[in-house]
Amino acid sequence: MNLYKINEVFESLQGEGSYTGLPSIFVRLQGCPVGCPWCDTKHTWEVNPDLHVNRDTVMAESGESDKWFETSSEQLLTLFSKYGYVAKHVVITGGEPCIYNLTELTSYLIGLGYSVQIETSGTYEIYCHEDTWVTVSPKVNMPGGKHVLKSAMLRANEIKHPIAMQKHIDELDQVLTLLEGGSMPQIYLQPISQQKRATELAIETCIARNWRLSLQTHKFIGIE
Ligand code: SF4
Repeated sequence: MNLYKINEVFESLQGEGSYTGLPSIFVRLQGCPVGCPWCDTKHTWEVNPDLHVNRDTVMAESGESDKWFETSSEQLLTLFSKYGYVAKHVVITGGEPCIYNLTELTSYLIGLGYSVQIETSGTYEIYCHEDTWVTVSPKVNMPGGKHVLKSAMLRANEIKHPIAMQKHIDELDQVLTLLEGGSMPQIYLQPISQQKRATELAIETCIARNWRLSLQTHKFIGIE
């Protein structure tokens, strides 16, 4: 039985990428060594054993917290039930969820009729059920020194890339070379922090390349 370290579980709408607008249960796993300077979930980076608490303590937290609890797949389903979650789409995010082997968790949820999505940086091997929707948001040249893996890029159902400047598009072009010879998944550009220049650059590039724009719609409407 696999155990997963959980930072947060909540129900909301998916705000990004192909599933935008879909009611979803978000499962945020604790731990990420990638080190993106602009990361908006830095509280998930460390797995501090002193902050291992019980489920109800984590669920009672409001706002960002670096506390975590440990759960099996079955216990996670019990949590969904206890909190009355009704969404049938589960988004496994982080942190970097692929520091865990997600085969058991994704298979369990898919077996129960959920659709399951993983959001990953592409810097770890992805272990999950074959029907899992994999969103790779490739993190290039980050301080953690991790490299985007060809296997992760080839597994991606969609690629979602946060951008603020041309350099970020150049970095995406660099990792897309890993896909040479394979099929190209749908590509989304996502302006970082809704910045005006970033949004303009994303729009221009999406039109020129026939890519899609991903806005963090949850931030526009003020939901988590
Ligand atoms: Fe943050 Fe994701 Fe980068 Fe990790 S990979 S540092 S969680 S943005």
